[in-house]
Formats: sequence, structure tokens, C-alpha cells
Amino acid sequence: MKCDLHLHSYYSDGSLSPSVLVQKCKDKGLEIISLTDHENTGGIPEAQEAGSKSGIKVIPGIEFSVDYQGDEHHILGHFIDYRSQQLWDFLEAWKKTKIEQVEKIINNLKRFGFEVSLEDVLAKTKGSLDRIHISSVMFPDWEKIPELAEKQKIFFRKYLLEPPTGQGMAYAAREKPDIRPVIDLIHKTGGIACWAHPFWKNKDVKKTGELAAIFKSFGLDCIEVIYPFHDQGQTVALHKIAQNLSMYESAGSDFHREDLSSRQIASFQTFGIEINFPFEK
Ligand SMILES: [Zn+2]
Ligand SMILES: [Zn+2]
Repeated sequence: MKCDLHLHSYYSDGSLSPSVLVQKCKDKGLEIISLTDHENTGGIPEAQEAGSKSGIKVIPGIEFSVDYQGDEHHILGHFIDYRSQQLWDFLEAWKKTKIEQVEKIINNLKRFGFEVSLEDVLAKTKGSLDRIHISSVMFPDWEKIPELAEKQKIFFRKYLLEPPTGQGMAYAAREKPDIRPVIDLIHKTGGIACWAHPFWKNKDVKKTGELAAIFKSFGLDCIEVIYPFHDQGQTVALHKIAQNLSMYESAGSDFHREDLSSRQIASFQTFGIEINFPFEK
């Protein structure tokens, strides 16, 4: 498989510029990729330009954090019209919830003796705001110095990352849009909606199948079947769920940066499954 349909750049919480990211994908022999930054499309023009120069197709994409009955899920929009006014308005309207979340976290961090200014955090962003930008103020240059990278990771898990993955001692939740208007928005802007990393929080196959059917009834088109954290059983289970619901299947690494994480460019295992993603849409 010569694709990776879930990649982040420094326009959200990744560390590479879109053009460097495209070059790295090219070096790995990929032919089709999608840039899917969180709630931001700022990197797409640069990625597409780099793609046309190096002969690699770049599908415009985005990743939304959504709510369904109190649980967080991530929905990718592939082939969206990133110039759409409707999309822009939606992203602008929800931007403030990210700022509010970071303000609350900064306030909570004071209890532990950490002083961080919102202005400094915002100055670290190139596109969407994320908790990683708080870390970047606390540990400048953490992406270049391995010892700082380790300290950053410990800090992030202890204070910023919510349980069960982290301790989240200074964590504050963020209000998220309901899944339904997000799927509608993806469709209205010409995209197809894909459920990213379905086993992220819930590992139960039966529940995942039930949720996929519900999300399909809301218009969901695709499931990210192939993903670095999916073992063979999970991959096969998602493949069956997608087939039974007549949905598209996608493959993505969720790459953010070159580090020891298993989320590296095209680092997933396909377990012999050929995805039916509509590459030529
Ligand atoms: Zn995600
Ligand atoms: Zn992602």
C-alpha cells in the first residue's frame, strides 16, 4: 500500500512543515497522502504545492474532535473544500473553546507552581491551538533536545493529558461539537467523513460495531481500518464492520513527529487487507 491518509503538520500539533512532511512521504515511496490537521486547513496549500512538485497526490483533509453522548471521537474529512466559507465559519466559531480550555489549564497549572502566559502559548501556534503548545512554552526546543523531549513527555502526561492515558492533574475538558453537524459539514464541503482510530478509547469490538452503525446512520462514509495501534484482530474486526455496513476503509498513521512513537509515516500493518478507499474521488 502506497498511501497514508492521516498525517499532521505544525499547523496543528505536529512538528514538520507541510512541505517537509510531503518530502518525507515521497522518500518513503508513498503515492497518495492526506494532510489532516486538527481543526485547521492552513497547511493544505503548501502540502499540495509540494505534492505537485514531487509527484505525490495530496488529498485535502482535516480532523475534528467530536462528541457523541459524552464520549470523544475523531472524524476525518477527506476531499473537503478547504476554501469553503462554511468550513471557515465553523472552525472560527469553535476556536474559542480551545482558547478557553488552555486558559483553564494555565490557571490549574498555577496550583503546581507553573506560570505560563496565554500570549506565549498562542505565539507557539501556526494553525490550531493544542495542549502541546503549553509544553512548548514550558520546554522551548524540546523537539531538538532529547533530554527536554523526555521531560516534556513526562510533564504532558502528568499535567495535561487526561486519564486513562495520562494523569491530567491540570487538565480541563473542552466543549466539542456533536458528531452529526460535523459529518454534515464535511459533506456540504464536498468531503467524505471517516471515523479515525475507532479503538482509541473503547476496545470493545461489539460496541465499536454498534457505534459504526449509528454513525453510518448519521452519514459516516468511512472507517480507519488500518492504523499503527491496531493488531490483527482489531484490523480484521474493523474490516468486517466496514464491509457489513458497505463503508469505505482507510489507512492512516496519525503521524505527528519523528520520535519513538509507533505513529510514524505509513508505519501501520495491513495484515493483507486491501482498502477500498475512493482515491480517485
Ligand atoms: Zn485523532
Ligand atoms: Zn490525528
